[in-house]
Amino acid sequence: MARRAKARPDPGNPGTFLPNGQAAKSGLNRSIHDAGWGVFLGILHAKAESAGRTVVPVPAPHTSRTCAACGHCTAENRRTQAEFACVACGHTAHADVNAAVNILRAGLARQAAQAA
Ligand SMILES: [Zn+2]
Repeated sequence: MARRAKARPDPGNPGTFLPNGQAAKSGLNRSIHDAGWGVFLGILHAKAESAGRTVVPVPAPHTSRTCAACGHCTAENRRTQAEFACVACGHTAHADVNAAVNILRAGLARQAAQAA
């Protein structure tokens, strides 16, 4: 549904392409993806509310490269996609678990800040 428009090579002019409507398709693709996130967030909030939970948005940048133990943040903390090893304090964990701890901590801090 959100694929790019198929390229149309110009048979009379090798190396060039005929108009294929990609600019319009890009706008449509953006709308599809925006609606996708809007629908997802709507369902997420409704499910959380029905379960007596709350949704706390947390900015994602650096949550996967920050040490959950000491707070040191660098790309070198991620040795592989799955392995997290802090170059400052030596803390090791699965990268997803380390990031989840950081995200939970940020969410709880935001929640506490909203309550205060
Ligand atoms: Zn550390």
